[in-house]
Amino acid sequence: MKGILREEVFGTLADGRRANLYTISNGRGMEAKVTNYGGIVTSIKVPDRDGKPGEVVLGFDSLEEYLGPHPCYGATIGRFANRIGSARFVLKGKEYRLTANEGPNHLHGGRKGFDKVLWEAETILSEEDTSIRMRYLSIDGEEGYPGNLSVSVTFSVGEDDTLKVDYSATTDQSTVLNLTNHSYFNLADGGSGDILGYELQVEANFFLPINRAALPLGPIRGIAGTPFDFRKPAPIGFRIHEKDEQLLFGEGYNHTFVLLGKGQPPARAATVRDPKSGRILEVFTTEPGVQLFTANFPGDMFRGRGGGFCPSRGGFCLEAQHYPDSPNHPEYPSTVLDPGEIYRQTTVYKFSSE
Ligand code: BGC
Repeated sequence: MKGILREEVFGTLADGRRANLYTISNGRGMEAKVTNYGGIVTSIKVPDRDGKPGEVVLGFDSLEEYLGPHPCYGATIGRFANRIGSARFVLKGKEYRLTANEGPNHLHGGRKGFDKVLWEAETILSEEDTSIRMRYLSIDGEEGYPGNLSVSVTFSVGEDDTLKVDYSATTDQSTVLNLTNHSYFNLADGGSGDILGYELQVEANFFLPINRAALPLGPIRGIAGTPFDFRKPAPIGFRIHEKDEQLLFGEGYNHTFVLLGKGQPPARAATVRDPKSGRILEVFTTEPGVQLFTANFPGDMFRGRGGGFCPSRGGFCLEAQHYPDSPNHPEYPSTVLDPGEIYRQTTVYKFSSE
């Protein structure tokens, strides 16, 4: 396809290394920007129902802002997305202790996860897609994880207004792995209004209830009759303020849904419609779960683009991933990667309007 790729300097890290910003467009009005610092998607622009392109993710336009504190805006998360309880797990009879960076627990790969490292990037132009491939070698012992892990993440913009993210990884020792992308979507205008009126549908009959530390309790729970029932489209904010124990623990939605489909080809996980702009986001994934996070704790953490304001619940995440704390739950689908195996995950974000 005749996609367009632009590479520019995004900024310089404290150690003098340079980070780049890559712009990929499909020549039909969709444009995505990705930096090799943290494998972060900084911007996605797609047309609304009148054909007017607009920003649909929260993010920043400068590297400096990404180097400061932010809630993982658009980032590639690894080695393990979400939480690992007590920052430890046992694999093949050996205990591994990870960096505890959320109280006693481990969140999103630790203090310096994949969202805070510089990836090596190469551009790929094929018949179908215009892509950026990023590679990172996570060394044995990084943040406490075993094995040298070689990871690749490829971002492709397709003619059909899709951003496809393909992940692959290999290791030289058994390890655990759960990669995702942490984009916060705001389909109206990239962040100046809240997302509570968007209609959400999730392809799930069960979710994972959590404790106060947002760790899964263990067993899956049926969504019927709960505020987690998005089998039919419902506004995200319809029941978010109910006095439901799970919503109180999450301060809103911060929960994994157990997806009906998993494995290749990527199955539909969720559909979100913004009635005002007419924009629609469909998420397809190979993963067994999707974490719905409704940007629950505003204040300093959530900042708008260009120093602007970001309202409470100004974005939502649909993080396609394995279940949180899987290494401590043998009953969950396995997140173990052994030498000789290839880890693969694909998630597709498809945009349209009506
Ligand atoms: C987690 C939230 C966390 C956010 C930012 C989400 O994936 O579930 O609890 O605050 O990421 O790190």
